[in-house]
Amino acid sequence: MSPSEKILERLVSFPTISRDSNAELINYLRDYLAEFGIDSFLVSNDENTKFNLYAVIGPDGPGGVLLSGHTDVVPIEGQDWTVAPFCASRQGGRIYGRGTTDMKGFIACVLAMVPRAVAAKLAEPIHLVFSYDEEIGCIGIRGMLDVLEVKQVKPSYCIVGEPTSMQIGIAHKGKIGMTCRCHGASAHSALTTEGLNAIYLACDMIVEIRNLHNELSSASLHKEFGVPHSTLHVGTIEGGTALNIIPNYCEFKFEIRNIEADNAGLLLKRLQNSARTMARRYRNKFEASDICIEVFNQYPALQIEQDAEILGFVGDLLDNNEIIGIDFGTEAGMISSRLSIPAVVCGPGSMDQGHKPDEFILRSELERCDTFLSRLVHRLSQ
Ligand SMILES: [Zn+2]
Repeated sequence: MSPSEKILERLVSFPTISRDSNAELINYLRDYLAEFGIDSFLVSNDENTKFNLYAVIGPDGPGGVLLSGHTDVVPIEGQDWTVAPFCASRQGGRIYGRGTTDMKGFIACVLAMVPRAVAAKLAEPIHLVFSYDEEIGCIGIRGMLDVLEVKQVKPSYCIVGEPTSMQIGIAHKGKIGMTCRCHGASAHSALTTEGLNAIYLACDMIVEIRNLHNELSSASLHKEFGVPHSTLHVGTIEGGTALNIIPNYCEFKFEIRNIEADNAGLLLKRLQNSARTMARRYRNKFEASDICIEVFNQYPALQIEQDAEILGFVGDLLDNNEIIGIDFGTEAGMISSRLSIPAVVCGPGSMDQGHKPDEFILRSELERCDTFLSRLVHRLSQ
């Protein structure tokens, strides 16, 4: 068993589902790094139950590379697992377990690299950032980025090791998550002129959202993505209390996932304007008429130019330097924009296996990532 496989087994054994604490896993990381004389810096959530970890290998100077990964995993509830999700098992060329591909496999390879990096006497540093609560909207890393911004940590490049089958992800979409609250006026359902149906307000607003989606899908084609344009989507809706009451309240949750070329803020503004106009239409008769959109989470898109230096740098460390766009969000956009450094997404495993029952990673993928990181150490020690 390779060192990275051995470490991955250990990492999988910590059930770090986003809602739960990741303290045990972080303690393990901290102890592991300490064995090689590397100090860790932790940034916790307000409740002191979840932690980001930051560490530096090598000289305390400029340049170098930031390797970044999240320690949390998605839940297993409602999924039909045939193997134990938090006890890694090997079958042929595969290692099964929650988080093997998304993305403890990468973290295991990074840890396995540490002794080599320490022995290599690096000329430029390798920065490590391991975060929490990525799976619920890149929440955890924000506190760490606040600190890194103040510390003026600014390596030359960042590599986020989400599973890309070791291809180079140069773009992913940004996201805004929102709640739309629609306020109408209650009345007996037989007296339709006496009430303002909040579910109808929501429906009208949802038509606006669908229209905007359709407009975007015909406008710009970005072939690097599976879905080659920005998207809007309504995920949940709730309203009304009984069939014979005109509902005075309805709310729904929706999202905008934007490519970098589409300004998500402007798209949101357009919807907010529509909401205002729509609600105003009824205000003469129904004072309460209102539609408001509340943002509860957002992160920026990532877009690296095809001729950017980082692509040459990372490409040299790989056997093939295939460039791809990624349909799921990652921390790369946020790291890149907050620290003003170029970031790409490149890691072992495939997201085809992520978030599913019987998640697995190919052992050959870990091997490829080990080779990649060995070359990185070699490159930075020259
Ligand atoms: Zn992930």
